[in-house]
Amino acid sequence: MTSALERTHCQATTKAGLPCKALAVSASPYCNMHGPNAKAIQTLGGKHKSSAYRLEDKMSPRLKDVVELLGTAAKEVHSGKITPSQGSSLASIATALIKAVESASLEMRVSLLEVRTKRGDTDEFGP
Ligand SMILES: [Zn+2]
Repeated sequence: MTSALERTHCQATTKAGLPCKALAVSASPYCNMHGPNAKAIQTLGGKHKSSAYRLEDKMSPRLKDVVELLGTAAKEVHSGKITPSQGSSLASIATALIKAVESASLEMRVSLLEVRTKRGDTDEFGP
């Protein structure tokens, strides 16, 4: 049965000469990287690179690893080195890791606030 939501794969060929394995964008036979807006998307990516680098400085090494893994996975799905399904699995694992790191970080910050509140140490929260 064909659903209206069923998506097809991109009709383009990768630089390696293999068929692109990325999913086509709705109402287009191509993915974002091969479609008519590819140039604009790549330019936008370039503009965001400098702020991405600044953000990277503030990330924990563990989060940097996860972000790097996701970036590599995205490229590998696009080039056909890994399947979209393998990419999705990696993304699920990465999301779980990020949530665990966020929870641990929040827990630590709340504990720190509780200790400071008990001590009446409010210096850093003043106006
Ligand atoms: Zn493509």
